[in-house]
Amino acid sequence: GMKCGIVGLPNVGKSTLFNAITEAGADSENYPFCTIDPNVGIVDVPDKRLDNLTEIIDPQETIPTAIEFVDIAGLVKGASKGEGLGNKFLGNIREVDAIVHVVRCFQNDDITHVEGSVDPLRDIEIIEMELILADLESVTNKKEKTEKMLKTGDKMYKEQFEVLEKVEAVLEEGNPARMLDLSDKEKKLIKDLNLLTLKPVLYAANVGEDDITKDSIPLVEKIENKAAQEDAEVVTVSAGVEAEIAELEGAEKELFLEELGIEESGLDKLIKAGYKLLGLITFFTAGEKEVRAWTVNKGATAPEAAGVIHSDMERGFIRAEVISYEELVAVGSFASARNAGTLRLEGKDYIIKDGDVCYFKFNV
Ligand code: GDP
Repeated sequence: GMKCGIVGLPNVGKSTLFNAITEAGADSENYPFCTIDPNVGIVDVPDKRLDNLTEIIDPQETIPTAIEFVDIAGLVKGASKGEGLGNKFLGNIREVDAIVHVVRCFQNDDITHVEGSVDPLRDIEIIEMELILADLESVTNKKEKTEKMLKTGDKMYKEQFEVLEKVEAVLEEGNPARMLDLSDKEKKLIKDLNLLTLKPVLYAANVGEDDITKDSIPLVEKIENKAAQEDAEVVTVSAGVEAEIAELEGAEKELFLEELGIEESGLDKLIKAGYKLLGLITFFTAGEKEVRAWTVNKGATAPEAAGVIHSDMERGFIRAEVISYEELVAVGSFASARNAGTLRLEGKDYIIKDGDVCYFKFNV
């Protein structure tokens, strides 16, 4: 999966952040098969390694890899009971692979807060409770169906029922299902439910423009404490500023960041954190014509990685020539690595590592 859904209460800065994402948007030429959906933004994943490879190899073209963000506006208190088209929005969340939860930390009396005050922890709880209630409904329904199947004596139903009971108990305590640490086997047994609170979460703390250079922001620290308990991450952004930065490129962008006194935009940090949240890793191909970053799921094999480039390459996979990014930088080029004998030959069971530079041999 490659999609992060952006959720949060109204007026917290979701659309502003989503606009920054579409403004920064990836070169659409690289994604000819993507349908144009106004709620989906595709962005390049910033990667210093790709920049360095480009500098060393000087190819005709450099193509970064990308991820998708989906704007899921309209989630309000009561969504799980159908308030404000609640079911539609919860359904949209079901289709994403990870959740970016935008939380308002900026103070501005001109912008109404739906709950009357700026209180990120309360806001997080409101949204989380809607997701928990929606999951509870799915789990309870499924449990009833599974219970009827127990009499078939099929072991699978018994195991499934046990997982459902476990998940139901956690949800009833008001906690997200991800707090359970289910085994892969258990997750598989309830996979078809697509539970909302089982998806990994990242909090985007939307702070005021004056706060972006501060080392500590009390409201953000509160979120960080909560996130630490549930193994989630927090990225600080200032949606308005991110939208301004997103309009710039190259040297102009560098200069503006310098003026702001920051090294990296909040949006770039968010994109990288989202990529990690999705369990994605990057491998590279590095020819003189094209240097390119590609995405695979953690644990992908060499043929699967080849398949990301072209299905023929997976079907006819013979072997991969592989070198780590660091080693390639040290020797200077794929060709000199080949001559020096530092390329590794890997077969079909090889597990791709983040930063591998690959050349696939295949039968046509
Ligand atoms: P959404 O309902 O969550 O999509 O929120 P919007 O993105 O529409 O933002 C609501 C209002 O808050 C708009 O007027 C934005 O300009 C403003 N806003 C969003 N982010 C920030 C921020 O970081 N700082 C300030 N001062 N205002 C912001």
